[in-house]
Amino acid sequence: MQALTNRGKSVSREPMTLMERMYIPSIVKGMAITFSHIFKKQPTIRYPEEKREFSPVFRGLHVLNRDEEGRENCTACGLCAVACPAEAITMEGAERMEGEEHLYREEKYAAKYEINMLRCIFCGLCEEACPKDAIYLSETFAPANFTRKGFIYGKEELLIPNPITEPAEYAKARGEKRVDN
Ligand code: SF4
Ligand code: SF4
Repeated sequence: MQALTNRGKSVSREPMTLMERMYIPSIVKGMAITFSHIFKKQPTIRYPEEKREFSPVFRGLHVLNRDEEGRENCTACGLCAVACPAEAITMEGAERMEGEEHLYREEKYAAKYEINMLRCIFCGLCEEACPKDAIYLSETFAPANFTRKGFIYGKEELLIPNPITEPAEYAKARGEKRVDN
């Protein structure tokens, strides 16, 4: 019969020797490999006690930004959605009403803003495309979830805490990567 690949090996049907039947050489060989790893540097990280250092250009979970007065920066212009190669971003714009100037920086804002983290490839193009510094990729992971729906992040998950009313949470969410605004 013609072989599909050249990786096939012919199997020896010879009866096993006494040593082979005792498995001693194989056990000794296996233990030697195990012991040879004892004094080697461990490649594993004992997360969550230990945390791996990320590259300075690591791109994690998205954050929707606010200005220093706590107003949402996003104007729902849609440039991030157009730039997204994975079509992971959807939004619905709305007009700012009178009396909402303290909530939204521009006259238009994103009433709904969603990112599908299962589609996202964390390329950062949405951040690059945004003219309002309204979205950036933080140093946080998208946590594990049991349902697909749980990976669709809405404004509630994405919006950074308000720097006026929740300064500690805001500072924590900003992380060390963001030094500008
Ligand atoms: S990081 Fe890339 S893939 Fe993810 S939402 Fe932004 S543009 Fe789309
Ligand atoms: S995040 Fe930026 S690019 Fe995306 S809709 Fe808002 S303002 Fe426009």
